[in-house]
Amino acid sequence: MSESVEQRLKRVQTALRAADPLGKVALLAVSKTFGPEAVLSAARLGQTAFGENYAQEGCAKVDWFREHHPEVTLQWHFIGPLQANKTRMVAERFDWVQSIDRVRIAQRLSDQRPSDLLPLNVLVEVNVDGQETKSGVHPDEVRALCEAVAAMPGLKLRGLMAIPAPVETSEGRKAPLRAMRALFDELKDEFGLDTLSMGMSADMIEAVECGTTMVRVGSAIFGTRPYPRRG
Ligand SMILES: *Cc1c(COP(=O)(O)O)cnc(C)c1O
Repeated sequence: MSESVEQRLKRVQTALRAADPLGKVALLAVSKTFGPEAVLSAARLGQTAFGENYAQEGCAKVDWFREHHPEVTLQWHFIGPLQANKTRMVAERFDWVQSIDRVRIAQRLSDQRPSDLLPLNVLVEVNVDGQETKSGVHPDEVRALCEAVAAMPGLKLRGLMAIPAPVETSEGRKAPLRAMRALFDELKDEFGLDTLSMGMSADMIEAVECGTTMVRVGSAIFGTRPYPRRG
């Protein structure tokens, strides 16, 4: 590997601070496909929030930290598609689920959240640019899903999340990011939302310019993934 996680993370932190001098935007380090040692390297530089896409892999990492580094307190965000048979393991271990796009999955997470833990923080995932194969609800259906989720005792609705399709130009990337910010502003007072999760390695700066509150950055921190993104 040419560069270390430390070097890359510092570069991302510097770029983010330049775009967001007041430090309002949270950085989620997306560690999917990378081992717990890579997470530990980032944690030693003060990174505390990590994102995982695959239930089994993510839960194994959470368990590894509990066993080997109970002194390190991390915040774990589940950001991938979630099948019904994997909701329990996620509800028992994660702090956030950002990929809520169905009442049924939300209901299972709420029912399965252990009562000795705080409610699971959740974001409704929006298919903002109408991608056919993508997860996420249509913008017109966001309010109804927010209403359903807000009523679930095991969940705390915190906001919205989106994964716009990659686009060549900076201006092209901004259109869905702006649409997400408008949708967020429409709903935030009604539902008490404080989190808009958008912006990845390729569009982090544009997302900050368009009003994100949390960027999810993987490859710019951990390097090229050993296997491709599956969702
Ligand atoms: C993989 C992934 C990311 C990070 O993507 P990079 O391009 O590596 O920064 C962010 N969000 C979601 C939902 C992902 O699946």
